[in-house]
Amino acid sequence: MKLLVTGGAGFVGAVVSRLLLDAGHTVVVLDDLSRNDAAQVPADAQFVQGRVQDAAEILTPEAGFDGVLHFAGLISAGESMSLPELHWEANTRAGLNLIDAMRAAGVRRLIFSSTAACYGEPSELPLTENAVTMPINTYGATKLAVDLAIASEARAHKLAAVSLRYFNVAGAYVGADGTVIGERHDPETHLIPIALEVAAGKREKMPMFGDDYPTPDGTCIRDYIHVTDLARAHLRALEAATPGEHRIYNLGVGTGFSNKQIIDAVREVTGADVPVEWLPRRPGDPAALYASSAKAQAELGWTPEKTEVADIVADAWTFYRRQN
Ligand code: UDP
Repeated sequence: MKLLVTGGAGFVGAVVSRLLLDAGHTVVVLDDLSRNDAAQVPADAQFVQGRVQDAAEILTPEAGFDGVLHFAGLISAGESMSLPELHWEANTRAGLNLIDAMRAAGVRRLIFSSTAACYGEPSELPLTENAVTMPINTYGATKLAVDLAIASEARAHKLAAVSLRYFNVAGAYVGADGTVIGERHDPETHLIPIALEVAAGKREKMPMFGDDYPTPDGTCIRDYIHVTDLARAHLRALEAATPGEHRIYNLGVGTGFSNKQIIDAVREVTGADVPVEWLPRRPGDPAALYASSAKAQAELGWTPEKTEVADIVADAWTFYRRQN
């Protein structure tokens, strides 16, 4: 298939692009490089620097695209609370523009990076796709708005769509040829990469947001999924997408780890102390989030393979040391 990958310079988009190319697809990456450089875009993909809002310039009827994988967007829940307007623009307005551009060009297959943040404070654990969607941060709200728009587009205009609701994506892609693709956000906001910076001595202390949550050790619990496992699900979703259907799948491993457990894993993998500094809760953080991926496993025939936190942290550490 000829595929447009928005946000293909980012962590997940670059890994999915790599797997799509390996599977024989043609990949055009569209990325504005606002939060990344182009270093991780696979060399065998075509790269276009530009905004999703202007996707219609690439998605012409003549260009012959078979589908779009839409990763571009802002992902920091914390930032979405202080600068919500950025998230509504980059996630929702851009997403709606993309749907319009796809309709105009007759491109009728879409895989969308959705998020566990759509659920908000979970109504059940593990979270299934039937759980109530009531986001508690702007990030989740901006993504849920696009999910709802995709659902109506599928119903009314026969889009074949799959939204994949990611839990905490981590690790790094490590290819047989030595290629490593990892997480490199600027600014970095995620737990594991920041902890690795502390382990490497680049930061003095690990800022820890809250130890008074109603969890066994008082810190938040999240479901960490290895990026390569997550990426493999996208290829399955692309095959499974059916005209007129909007399918939604949760992607996690089904087990939660607390922030303290993650810091312990970082200490174990790196051999460093990782001193922590306890800070107040970060606004918009649910206490515990972990997935049921039973639906993805049953309907996509997908199973996560690298589920041990130490292995996930070890791959992230491999990437970190390559970069620094
Ligand atoms: N976290 C933290 N310190 C940091 C970054 C994150 O304590 O410097 C916590 C955050 O409050 C949350 C968990 O780690 O409880 C996971 O946050 P992250 O931003 O990595 O992912 P999210 O779950 O928000 O998508």
